[in-house]
Amino acid sequence: MTLMIRFHNTLGGSVEPFVPLHPGEVKLYTCGPTVYDFPHIGNWRAYIFEDLLKRFLLFSGLKVIHIMNITDVDDKTIRGANAKGLTLGEYTRPFIEAFYADRDVLNILPADHYPRATEHIPEMVAIVRTLLDKGYAYEKDGSIYFSIAKFPAYGHLSKINLEDLRPGQRGDSDEYDKESVHDFALWKAKKEGEPSWETPIGPGRPGWHIECSAMSSKYLGPTFDIHCGGVDNIFPHHENEIAQSEAANGVKFVNYWLHCHHLVVNGEKMAKSKGNFYTLNDILAKGYDPREVRFLLLSTHYRKMLNFTFETLEQARAGRNRIRDFLVDLKDVKRDGAASPEVAKLVGKAQAEFVSGLEDDLNISEALAALFGLIKAANVLKDKGKISMADAQALTEFVLSVDKKVLAIEPTDVKLIVDSTTIALTSDNVGLKVDASNDLDSDVQKKVEERQKARAEKNFKLADEIRKELLAQGILLEDTKDGVRWKRVQPPRS
Ligand SMILES: [Zn+2]
Repeated sequence: MTLMIRFHNTLGGSVEPFVPLHPGEVKLYTCGPTVYDFPHIGNWRAYIFEDLLKRFLLFSGLKVIHIMNITDVDDKTIRGANAKGLTLGEYTRPFIEAFYADRDVLNILPADHYPRATEHIPEMVAIVRTLLDKGYAYEKDGSIYFSIAKFPAYGHLSKINLEDLRPGQRGDSDEYDKESVHDFALWKAKKEGEPSWETPIGPGRPGWHIECSAMSSKYLGPTFDIHCGGVDNIFPHHENEIAQSEAANGVKFVNYWLHCHHLVVNGEKMAKSKGNFYTLNDILAKGYDPREVRFLLLSTHYRKMLNFTFETLEQARAGRNRIRDFLVDLKDVKRDGAASPEVAKLVGKAQAEFVSGLEDDLNISEALAALFGLIKAANVLKDKGKISMADAQALTEFVLSVDKKVLAIEPTDVKLIVDSTTIALTSDNVGLKVDASNDLDSDVQKKVEERQKARAEKNFKLADEIRKELLAQGILLEDTKDGVRWKRVQPPRS
């Protein structure tokens, strides 16, 4: 089988044909969360890009072995634990649990393994010892540093300016910028107030970068196919991973480096101080479905900056609803007759363009254009009465299969309320019943009923408008199997 897949490789800086080391199998390492806080939507953008990559490799008939690390010891986690007076384990546990929970609601396929840094100290120590033995590393005041002067390929991935190199100068912090390219810490000497391990290279704790070198080679071998992360990781993290791994093992570390661009909010870098910092829960609390968030984060090409706004999230919702409406309408087609060659041709074209788009460095815009182009063309035929039940089935199967295997936005899982008789009014303050005779509440109830009617008539556009109108007033509707509930929430910031 000859693959047609091409990826942009940060190492080399161009789009290259993808050839796995072992035919039919891809070894993939993606840098995982540093569990010092809840992941924000910028983190999820990178994890969803990696999920699209993995799903497309699987869709292409390849086996994927995927490892994602959990960084549960580094400068940030130690700082956080100390500030709260907790042990590292106590401090990181809720963030690890939240990461897995969010991953699942976003329909991200789990990795084969999530190794934790604190459980791989001996593997890190072994690499540091090899680097000391081979002369790539040196000790200073109990800490051990990588000597960048000993590794001539240093800087190839990030294309740093060699004039900025300061070999012999040392830095202890895990993160630093391109203006100070210096010898970095592989192992940090034991310090008061920091967790440490007693090891053959002395008491201390690992630097951040050595963690990924140790965990990737343990599970994937010294050379593997694809390594991913955000563009922020290119320097110094991935540059340092290459230096450590290649110096220790004497072989090429990774064949393809794929990096996802930043996410900004309303054109600005996300920052807690600016009030534009969102976790997944912040967005779900505004009444959005996680699969709408997934669709938004998925639908911009991974090498482009993604500008998150609530308008673009509304567009993602509308796009997902368009797919759902199409599938719902196809269920109503009752015309007998043979499958039409015209529809078969449309489906074939959409399938080919969907695949060729993704083969071209995961060009999701082209893939989605193929899908929405099919929906538009099929709707024209349907309005002319030219769609038979056999055609409807072929169209439905195509849309559901690309969703199931690649997009995973589950457009058919939008709950349809059939029974509009049960309307429970509750407030979010510990489930107290709200007096329905209250003016505001009866207004809300009227709106809820209007929306139920719109949904029963499949007027999803009107139903969504009513939902939005209520949300703007701080009323969040929830469709449950017992009917509609509503609760008061913070209205979305406009
Ligand atoms: Zn990493």
